[in-house]
Amino acid sequence: MSSEVQSIDTDILIIGSGGSGLRAAIEATEQGTNVLVVAKELLKQAHTGWAMGGLNVAMKAPATPQMHFEDTINGGWYINNYKLARIFTREMPDRIHDLERYGVKFDRLPDGSYFTWAGGKQSAPLNLCAGDYTGREMMQGLLTELERLRVPFLEYHYVTRLLKQNGKVVGAFLINTSNGQYTVVQAKATIVATGGGGHMYRINTNAPSNTGEGYAWALDVGAELVDMEMIQFHPTGMAFPTEKRGTLVTEKVRGNSGILKNKFGERFMQHYQPERLELAGRDEVTRAIYQEIQDGRGTEHEAVYLDVTHWEAGKAEQLLPDVFAEHMAIGVDIRKQMMEVTPSMHHMMGGYSINEWGETNVAGLYAVGEVTTNVHGANRLGGNSLAEGQVFGRRVGICSSKYTRIVQPTLIAHYLIDAEVARVEAPLHRKTGVYAADLLSRIKDTMWNNVGIIRNAQKLLTAQQEVKAMQDEAQFLIAQDTAEQQACLEIQEMLKTAEVIILAALERTESRGAHYRSDYPQLDPAWEKNIRLRKDEQGKLTMRVVSPVRDEP
Ligand SMILES: Cc1cc2nc3c(=O)[nH]c(=O)nc-3n(C[C@H](O)[C@H](O)[C@H](O)COP(=O)(O)OP(=O)(O)OC[C@H]3O[C@@H](n4cnc5c(N)ncnc54)[C@H](O)[C@@H]3O)c2cc1C
Repeated sequence: MSSEVQSIDTDILIIGSGGSGLRAAIEATEQGTNVLVVAKELLKQAHTGWAMGGLNVAMKAPATPQMHFEDTINGGWYINNYKLARIFTREMPDRIHDLERYGVKFDRLPDGSYFTWAGGKQSAPLNLCAGDYTGREMMQGLLTELERLRVPFLEYHYVTRLLKQNGKVVGAFLINTSNGQYTVVQAKATIVATGGGGHMYRINTNAPSNTGEGYAWALDVGAELVDMEMIQFHPTGMAFPTEKRGTLVTEKVRGNSGILKNKFGERFMQHYQPERLELAGRDEVTRAIYQEIQDGRGTEHEAVYLDVTHWEAGKAEQLLPDVFAEHMAIGVDIRKQMMEVTPSMHHMMGGYSINEWGETNVAGLYAVGEVTTNVHGANRLGGNSLAEGQVFGRRVGICSSKYTRIVQPTLIAHYLIDAEVARVEAPLHRKTGVYAADLLSRIKDTMWNNVGIIRNAQKLLTAQQEVKAMQDEAQFLIAQDTAEQQACLEIQEMLKTAEVIILAALERTESRGAHYRSDYPQLDPAWEKNIRLRKDEQGKLTMRVVSPVRDEP
């Protein structure tokens, strides 16, 4: 092993400390398996802690798992993996009991029953919540359990690449971003739980760590990605000030009779979705807001209004403590003034193709959480993501643990490590070249302008050319310290992820869910299909268009 690289052996390496990664770590540890959790920031800073509105579960009548399943499939415009969606909706109630065992407290009514609310496209209330800080509450419970089980972890460790040897993923290469130390983790199984990639977009709701490299790793090791064109734009992000533009205003506002209005005070959703109004799908509400702004009916901040001034006294503070405080801080008292909101990139429905146990098509490689695909199809219901991470986190913990009992550890070859050291150090050795911040800014604009809410062939081809040009330039990135080195590596991976998003978006010549093409504005039943992408052994991208996985009820 290269002398400057230290080595750690474990059974399971879990990359990511969000809800899904932590749930996997808890389960695998309970199965008696050695686990190491790695995160690029503090464990508790994972994006999951930012989640607001709640998590979906059929916990209380009239909601049933069957109804939750049907809402999920309808919401996903029928390209979901039905088998995963079925398992998800059936097992979710038990996962709530697990969370409560870890100390998570969900809001309850005075009679002791759960407080629930209905988000967009829900037939009955499915959302369980803790105020508008559900993610924070969940993270606290999961981290307390992690601590109780004494699960080892590394914070501020950036994973640069998965390591594959003899056809198997056998661990990963890490940089300690506090001191630049390199580490190779040799693991029998590796679980990717790296969340989404919102920071590819100029306006987004995501935590800074959501830069999307998990998707790019799939391409490197030959794992299949599905539905990458399906990018969810949340209808309601804050409109101002500039540094807050895009910050989420939870769906819980609309789920509790918040009303959207244009600058003339008109409840415009009645023209777009007269039945569901503000509680239409996120894709539908987003496009309606976009249209209002495009047609000149937006506010001076290129936004629309979200009004809760009709709520009874005390409701805003009680239901939405974070949204209330965030607006007070910018001088908007939401009890008396309308909020201004605008769509913001929010979630990636696509990702690693997994089976019901989180297995990918590559031996030793598992995935869970937002970085995976198929429960949500073409549009995710609000509340289904936190929930999905709990169901499949447990499952991937069980399955990967079993695998570690039948597989021998692999000693990672020196040449693989030396090659990775050379790759990650290249930006540090260059004296002239391209700055990461410049390329990042261009990626964000390219994706927002051309691969955004409304797409068409012309925009997508422009984006494709720009990404290709940026990939060439990214060969010459320069860095002076570890933080800049990380930024360079993130950008190289982001560009790979962007490339496959654009490729899939060009391929899908219809409009479905979050993917809207102005040159193909209709839903096409022939496109009730998933686009699957992977790189073959020669590094060539291959694409398959296949029917969604159906299940037996
Ligand atoms: C503002 C906001 C509010 C939301 N509210 C809700 C809600 O109310 N209900 C709901 O269901 N969903 C909600 N979502 C979606 C949901 O929060 C996420 O989809 C979910 O939390 C993702 O969890 P995860 O475990 O997959 O990953 P994350 O929580 O994103 O965690 C990713 C982890 O991977 C680590 N990581 C990433 N790359 C690397 C690397 N290279 N090296 C090392 N570590 C790495 C990060 O450090 C982090 O620990 C919301 C999303 C946003 C943006």
